[in-house]
Amino acid sequence: MEQLGGQLVECFRKAKNIVFLTGAGMSTESGIPDFRSPGGLYTGEMAVEEVISATYFKKDPVQFWEKFSQIFALKLLGGYEPNAGHRFLAELERKGEGVTILTQNIDGLHQEAGSRNVIEIHGSLRVCRCTSCRKEYPIAEFLSGDTPVCPGCQNYLKPDVVLYEEEVRRYEEALHAAYDADLFVVMGTSLEVYPVNSIPRIVARTDIPMVLINREETGMDGLFTFRVQGQIGEILTRISKQL
Ligand code: NAD
Repeated sequence: MEQLGGQLVECFRKAKNIVFLTGAGMSTESGIPDFRSPGGLYTGEMAVEEVISATYFKKDPVQFWEKFSQIFALKLLGGYEPNAGHRFLAELERKGEGVTILTQNIDGLHQEAGSRNVIEIHGSLRVCRCTSCRKEYPIAEFLSGDTPVCPGCQNYLKPDVVLYEEEVRRYEEALHAAYDADLFVVMGTSLEVYPVNSIPRIVARTDIPMVLINREETGMDGLFTFRVQGQIGEILTRISKQL
């Protein structure tokens, strides 16, 4: 892995339009486990892909909600706070830099840190929607432990996230944003989830400089101009001090 160096910092300095692609590793420093790190949710007893699927929700919404709530520790949702990484991105945008965040995360922590230009490709954990009348409700209203049911029509509510087997949101918009970048930075993702992982593959066909900041290697490391292995918060703090 290439160490943090002058060339990388220079790329950040020069960039006028940075697009970040973030994954679950962005929020581990806020206390939310990712899926594929050692100790992450995938190494637990449950097959997460089966649980967080459209099929399972349709088959058994009661069990779905019980397991979904455990996986994402819904009761603690209000207790998670943005970390140094989220704050760095929000600060860049506040300073007037062109910043777009494409995120696979559903925790809303980028927005909570103050980022406004965020594309939530996998939806949001903070909202749920009636499967019948389509009305939206804040998930915070349904954390009692009972299966969330629409107060209006009494049908089951579904979390407004992209479940396995469902189509991602705003993919074309995310891809266009990435094409317009003069720096593309990928952080905290194993790049194993399709179609999000097609974005770096496509950007790699252009001459846009690409940076990967991740704790572990990914199967796509070879696509990147710069790779920095380590904790996002610490690395972004070092970069921000050199800007
Ligand atoms: P993943 O779990 O597959 O991979 C996370 C990657 O981040 C790993 O390669 C790990 O080495 C790295 N990582 C973890 N902590 C890090 C840190 N502090 N600094 C640097 N790197 C770190 O995650 P994924 O690729 O995003 O795919 C998981 C899917 O599950 C996504 O679609 C996402 O929607 C969902 N998910 C979301 C959340 C959330 O919203 N916070 C949490 C878990 C899963």
